[in-house]
Order: sequence, then structure tokens, then C-alpha cells
Amino acid sequence: MTDILVYALHYEDAFNHNSLGALCEAAKLAKTVGGEAHAIVVGDSARAELCAELGRYGATTVYRVAGPEGLAQPVVDAMAQVIRDRGFGYALFGGGLLGFEIGAGLAARLGAGVAMEVTAVHADSGKLVAERPILGDSAISEISYRSDVGIVIARLNAFEVTPAGSSTARVEDVEVEFSPFSTRARMIRRGEQRGEAVDIEGADVVIAGGRGLGNAEGFELCEQLARAFGPGSAVAATRAVVDAGWYPYAGQIGQTGKTVSPKLYLAAGVSGAIQHKVGMQGSENIVAINKDANAPIFEFCDLGIVGDLNKILPRLTAAISAKKDE
Ligand SMILES: Cc1cc2nc3c(=O)[nH]c(=O)nc-3n(C[C@H](O)[C@H](O)[C@H](O)COP(=O)(O)OP(=O)(O)OC[C@H]3O[C@@H](n4cnc5c(N)ncnc54)[C@H](O)[C@@H]3O)c2cc1C
Repeated sequence: MTDILVYALHYEDAFNHNSLGALCEAAKLAKTVGGEAHAIVVGDSARAELCAELGRYGATTVYRVAGPEGLAQPVVDAMAQVIRDRGFGYALFGGGLLGFEIGAGLAARLGAGVAMEVTAVHADSGKLVAERPILGDSAISEISYRSDVGIVIARLNAFEVTPAGSSTARVEDVEVEFSPFSTRARMIRRGEQRGEAVDIEGADVVIAGGRGLGNAEGFELCEQLARAFGPGSAVAATRAVVDAGWYPYAGQIGQTGKTVSPKLYLAAGVSGAIQHKVGMQGSENIVAINKDANAPIFEFCDLGIVGDLNKILPRLTAAISAKKDE
């Protein structure tokens, strides 16, 4: 069986961008292995018209399951049932925390092979082969499946959203009996850390702060510098400081964050790990301040300053403010 099932996450009457990318990719891949792409939607608020719109992104059928929204286990139940009853060959997820949790749960439930952090998929002899970067993204491993069902979990936003046409998908309501443990969790509140003030993707100047800032208050030095540059500048962060709660996720650059390509990217106390580099290496000018002369960021920056950011950032801010006042 070569059909591919994609979980489409929806929220506030719209489908998540990452899910749409996964569906578009599934539609392209299904053609190469002689199958079809289908989507599954779980929740109580998915209108049939909204589900049918997934046809534009390549879904032939949308399985609509009434049940708890935005939680992993009910989706595992629903996907396992649909895959067993209708005989799918593959399940494809666009990544993200929920995608990882559902994909891993589904692999365990079905005894299926799973490839995670996938950045591309191709077909070989009528079967899908997942490509996954390894060894700090310096090599690509190819993963083919021996199990009846193959599960592909992509990196977040690995696949582009490329609507294929105007056709609507057939919407089929499916009744699922959820496992008792799947309904033990309840969604109390859903929020998104948008960080409205944080628009790093559109900024011309990005000041990125890392663990070298020492603590959350250290970001004030980056904020001051961004203010000195004026409109069009923004402050960003590494995952280490986002995980530590020093800065909102909306400002995270890198593999699991955003990709930026500003005119100027200035890193303060950032080591330059590969997972950070992939999100900023397209910047026009890269300037790094780090007290460790051997920090990896010095290998790919245009201008490297070895020194203490606590001394350098205030001076830089003062110099830029003075220049603007001239
Ligand atoms: C699957 C996976 C996904 C990941 N995704 C991301 C991602 O999307 N984005 C991301 O950024 N990371 C990501 N990471 C984490 C990444 O590997 C690094 O751990 C992280 O980028 C390091 O952040 P950092 O540079 O702030 O901290 P560190 O590596 O601890 O570096 C801090 C730097 O500050 C310097 N420093 C310290 N004090 C000063 C001072 N006073 N003055 C000047 N310099 C100073 C130090 O010399 C050091 O180089 C991911 C990791 C994994 C495994």
C-alpha cells in the first residue's frame, strides 16, 4: 500500500502552515510511488468546508474525527485506527512538538519504523526513503522502511506549502473509540507565544544574544543596541537561552527556530553551534563578539571581536548613537 496519511493540525478555523507543507509534500511523493495522499483532522471544531479545502494542498480524502483537540494521544488512536482499517503505507508529519509526540506514539502503537528530523524524502523502487542529516548536519543518512507502515517526521517547516489546484477533498467522518488513557488529559488553555514585538524575520539588523549574556537581564544590552540602530532592528536568541527562559521562543534562530537573513547579524555571547548557524548563515554581514577566540562562530563570521560583551556592547551602542546624532 503506497497511500500516505498526514495529520493536519488546525486551530482557530485555519490549518497550521507546517501541516499544509507536509500535505503538499505527501501529495508529490504519493504520485511518485503510485498512491494518494490523505489527511486526518481530529477535533470538535473542524468544519467540513474547512476540511474539504485540504484538497487544494493535495488531499484526496480528509478523515474527520470528533474528539479532543491539540492533544497527542487521541490523534495516535485515530491515526492507528484509520491506518489499520484502510491500509496506509506511510504516515507523514511536518514536525513540531505535537508531530514528534504523535509520530513516536504511532510508531510504538503500530510497531512501525520511524525516521525523525527528516529534511527530504524521495522514492526508490516504489518505496519512500527518508533523508536525515546526521553528525551535526555534515552528512545525510538515508532511511528505508522494512515495516508495513513507515513513519516520517520532518523537521519543522522542512516542506514548502505549494497549493496544487482548486479541487476539494472528500470529507469522511470516522468514529474512533479512544483508549481510556488517551482521554485522561484535557486541554485547559491554548496560547501561542507570538512575541508581537519580536519580528526577527523581517528585520534588517538582528542582534542575537546567547548564553554569554549571563542571565535574562543581560538581554537589556542587546535591546539597547537594537534601539540605537533604530527601526528595522530586532533582538533574537539562541535555543540555549530560550530553553533557560531568558527570551521568548518567537525570537529563536536556528534549526528549531526561525531563519533570518538580515543585512547585519550581530551575535553576542553565541558559540555558533551548527543548529544555530543553519538559521542565520544567509545573513549579509555576520559580526560576532565572544570572549573565547576558539568559538566556532569565528569560523564563519565576517568580523570577529574577541572580548567581553559586557564591555563591548555598551561601547558599540554609544558609538552608534553618537554616529546617528552627527
Ligand atoms: C536537535 C537540536 C536542535 C537545536 N536547535 C537549535 C536552534 O534552533 N537554535 C539554537 O541556537 N540552538 C539550537 N540547538 C542548541 C545548540 O546545539 C547550542 O547548544 C546552542 O545554540 C548554544 O547556545 P549559545 O551559543 O547561547 O550557548 P553556548 O554554546 O553555551 O555559548 C555561549 C558562548 O558565550 C561566550 N561567552 C560567555 N561569556 C561571555 C562574555 N562575557 N562575553 C563574550 N562571550 C561570552 C562563550 O565563550 C560561549 O562561546 C539545538 C540542539 C539540538 C540538539
